[in-house]
Amino acid sequence: MELNASLDFDRRHIWHPYTSMTDPLPAYPVESASGVRIRLADGRELIDGMSSWWCAIHGYNHRELNKAARVQLERTAHVMFGGLTHEPAIELARSLIDITPDGLQHVFFSDSGSVSVEVAIKMAIQYWGAMDRPEKHRLLTIRGGYHGDTFGAMSVCDPVTGMHERFRRVLPQHIFLERPRSRVDEPLSTEDAERIETALGKHHGELAAVILEPVVQGAGGMWFYSAEYVARVAELCAELDVLLIADEIATGFGRTGRLFACEHANVEPDIMCLGKALTGGYMSLAATLTNTRVARGISADGGVLMHGPTFMANPLACAVARKSIDLLQAGPWRSRVGDFESQLQRELGAFREHAAVRDVRVFGAIGVVQTHEPVPVADLQRVFVERDVWIRPFADLIYLMPPYIMGADDLACLTSAIGAGLDTL
Ligand SMILES: *Cc1c(COP(=O)(O)O)cnc(C)c1O
Repeated sequence: MELNASLDFDRRHIWHPYTSMTDPLPAYPVESASGVRIRLADGRELIDGMSSWWCAIHGYNHRELNKAARVQLERTAHVMFGGLTHEPAIELARSLIDITPDGLQHVFFSDSGSVSVEVAIKMAIQYWGAMDRPEKHRLLTIRGGYHGDTFGAMSVCDPVTGMHERFRRVLPQHIFLERPRSRVDEPLSTEDAERIETALGKHHGELAAVILEPVVQGAGGMWFYSAEYVARVAELCAELDVLLIADEIATGFGRTGRLFACEHANVEPDIMCLGKALTGGYMSLAATLTNTRVARGISADGGVLMHGPTFMANPLACAVARKSIDLLQAGPWRSRVGDFESQLQRELGAFREHAAVRDVRVFGAIGVVQTHEPVPVADLQRVFVERDVWIRPFADLIYLMPPYIMGADDLACLTSAIGAGLDTL
């Protein structure tokens, strides 16, 4: 089909994320992507500032990841995981157990981050059911979070930005606290500490788990908060017999400067969700890990974990994920993330004085410019594409999370494009 005709078809028939079927925002046609560049159908090459939503940490069209997919493709693209198993799943589970906090020893594979959160919630609720404490079935979380778009995950997303009003009648009601004000580089304030202590003291008897994105809240508002808060929550959970679920779907695999954001707080969660960068952005795969206490608890008296997706542990995805983790471990991601952090501090930090800017935050390989008003997404995106960069803002947030292989010059193009974008507001 000719390009304009296929774009027209796309506009009339295909939903993109959070869009209207009658008044969609423009979508740019991609011809291919390689390294840190996305090539559009008209031949323009855009420097990728998004890693396709935290995923493409090694860049696109990576020779080794391609090879891992190809080799596995020649063996098996997929077999059911009920009653069968395979080396890609076994080797990936081994890698994940190896690189995550020590206590996490049991892996459940699923196909997307949202589903891995559903599974985490099921694990927590089934655990307390098996312990004869069925009254412990609620969750506690903080505002400004994002855990996915399925119903269980949505029920713990920020109640204002997270669609609660629209689905109020069918969503389970959980407990929300103000998000911690203490910033990532600050100690925990008394106010933040008291709020969590009071809430857990009051509700622990009905709580299955606390669920948090450790240190970095992503799509719920790109907020970075004190690691001491995470540490205090973990302490209280242990004391009061509440499980802790760490949603590391966005923060996992080095983005914050540690392999997992829990490490900033020296915390071992009972359950951890992984996704996004797990396959280096090649395909959809997620994992929920848990410790022996929870796994044995669920399995007591003949109990089974009640989940089993059709494409569970897809061999292609597992083989690529395993290779992606190997690449990460063999590569200089730690120093690169450190370099990105300094460069983003310097170059985005310069926009703090800009009239349109309310706040600039940088942590690890994540840079955020928050504006006073929500930005016109389509207009700003056009400005960025004209400057040969791919940056997709949402609400009042313009942010960068580049692939780890990016050079300093390309990163400088991204930050200067943000400056140009700010000038149009
Ligand atoms: C993206 C994200 C999810 C949902 O993952 P999907 O693969 O989009 O379902 C859950 N939690 C966090 C922290 C995320 O960033």
